[in-house]
Amino acid sequence: MVKGIIVIMPKNQSTCWVVTDIDGTLMDHNYDFKPALETLNWLSAIGVPVIPCTSKTASEVRLLRKTIKLKSPFIVENGGAVYGNKGNSDEEWVLPLGKTFASLRPLLDVISKRLNYPLRALTDLSLAEVRDLTGLDESAMSLALKREWSVPFLNPSGADMSKLSKIASDLNVSIYRGNRMSHLISKETHKGQAVLALKKHLAQNDVLIIGLGDSPNDLPMLDIVDIAVVIPSGCGPNPHLKQGVAEGKYLLAPAPHAVGWGQIVKEIVSQKIKEI
Ligand SMILES: [Mg+2]
Repeated sequence: MVKGIIVIMPKNQSTCWVVTDIDGTLMDHNYDFKPALETLNWLSAIGVPVIPCTSKTASEVRLLRKTIKLKSPFIVENGGAVYGNKGNSDEEWVLPLGKTFASLRPLLDVISKRLNYPLRALTDLSLAEVRDLTGLDESAMSLALKREWSVPFLNPSGADMSKLSKIASDLNVSIYRGNRMSHLISKETHKGQAVLALKKHLAQNDVLIIGLGDSPNDLPMLDIVDIAVVIPSGCGPNPHLKQGVAEGKYLLAPAPHAVGWGQIVKEIVSQKIKEI
């Protein structure tokens, strides 16, 4: 752990960020984040920004930010872009970090053909299929479908994953598998790269970052933060993240989803405050 950090800085600048995945990490699979609210409010009071880093769209994150009163920048679509507000206004800046949906979408069909496996984009499913997959209501579904920087598709359960990765790599794109669906994005794009780009954009090279995630798509982010935390589900940590926990690379939250999130973030940040 890094010692001697200063958590609160003047002029709304902080030397500590909490960068967090949303689905399965800050929220459980019923999209409940309430158990984390006390810690979220406390972080807001002491001036530690919470930066969403998610596969969700900008439209979805804007609604979430409003609900939990976040003002900090946000990383969307697995690192496809970073957004933030200009000063205290509603006007936003955007940092594009990968190809757009329009240029990525045809590549899913190319991969499908080369793989000889029907990959189905989220945006091509019926609303009933999206509802069954995501559990979202109609207005939330419309926000989830506003893809700008990635192409989510149904997890290809019967496909040859190593062949899929090879074909994707040849086309200069990457595929990340999440709990509910997979995501096609530019090869150079991932959550870790987006965090580094945000640090550079805000000229905050000395910031101490606590990163939290629950799935393989969080690994590039967990691997570049200062304190990496794996949030388990009710069945324990994701199998792909277990090794990092066992090796001590990642801390493991003491409880699933928002409950564990609230407890471990408060514990880590409290400890940092004591070290000032
Ligand atoms: Mg997740």
